Amino acid sequence: MLERPQAKGKGVAAHSPLPIRRVDAIPVALPLKTPMKMSGITIATAENILVRIEAADGRVGWGEAASAPTMTGDTLGGLVAAVRYLAPLLTGQDAFDRPALIPALRRALMGNAGAHSAIEMALLDLAGHAGNTRLVDAVAPKPLRTQVKPMWLLGNGTVEQDIAEAHTKEREGFHFFKLKIGVKPAADEIAAAHAIRQALGRNMPLCADANAGLTLTNAKRYVERTRPAKLAFIEQPLPPDDLAGLKALAKLRVPVGVDESIHSLADVAANARAGAAGVSLKLIKLGGFTAAYEAAKLCRRRRLKINVAAKIAESSIATAAAVHLACVAPNVDWGVSLTHFYLAEDIVKQPLAIRDGTVALPQGPGLGVEVDEAAVERFRVK
Ligand SMILES: [Mg+2]
Repeated sequence: MLERPQAKGKGVAAHSPLPIRRVDAIPVALPLKTPMKMSGITIATAENILVRIEAADGRVGWGEAASAPTMTGDTLGGLVAAVRYLAPLLTGQDAFDRPALIPALRRALMGNAGAHSAIEMALLDLAGHAGNTRLVDAVAPKPLRTQVKPMWLLGNGTVEQDIAEAHTKEREGFHFFKLKIGVKPAADEIAAAHAIRQALGRNMPLCADANAGLTLTNAKRYVERTRPAKLAFIEQPLPPDDLAGLKALAKLRVPVGVDESIHSLADVAANARAGAAGVSLKLIKLGGFTAAYEAAKLCRRRRLKINVAAKIAESSIATAAAVHLACVAPNVDWGVSLTHFYLAEDIVKQPLAIRDGTVALPQGPGLGVEVDEAAVERFRVK
């Protein structure tokens, strides 16, 4: 029998209670425009969990988390099971009482970061709708920015395709590109970095992400031989727990980022000590918005660069949450990765748009996106 949360959290008295009537876990499969090949996995369809929390007055909040077997260990079936396991702890409770609810959920179910993140996101969205406030206003004193410049991920079969796509995306306003590496032969990926640098010019921010797909020897070779291509950083070259390897690589005076290595604030601190220069923050890894925001503040204390990222690929629901996080993070020097752009179809009425190279912080209540429930039904995994 799960123990239901008891104590009321701070600040709850400011609102009339918002009792939760039902919690639904909705698995969806969202088609990508083109399959994305990364080290260890190719993604053609985004298998995500949606969490729909309905209050007694009929208001609804939405959350989303991507399955990420190679990053968080979350499979779609696991996400559904975790949300359904936690749902009885939420029904009947006051949706404003996150300070009591979130710790109770964490105590009831270890790990399962994606499920916790999607639930917290839905609670934040619901509270925002009920209180007519943006998500950012519920978590931070004031947003540090009201728009972000998204980066574009290049992961095609050939360098020619990457260059053609980069030029197209540059015309659409993208100003920061990330190369997927750790997939093709090392010599080809080194040559590609030079060719893409030449095609984009020396001022275009460019980085590379290996998704833990390199050996230390290959990682050293890659960073030494791509030095003239002036990559802003190389992300997760080595396996997530290889702190000794990270230390050895950082000695080459190259900015190394970590992504798959980060699942907690303790991971941020440990990787900083090992020489990481920056981190990629994703809500699904830290277990939710609040934890990711705490990690961002820790990054400031450790003088780490920050990349705020949604997972390949999340709809405008979770991507909106990433934009809110990017607008309160102390820095986004290593870019913002928004992934609804890679979907063939979105599940909100007005997907987050890029205008003049920027995506604006949504101004509506909660996440600031309106979910298209008919589209959700179309993509629901039966
Ligand atoms: Mg990454």
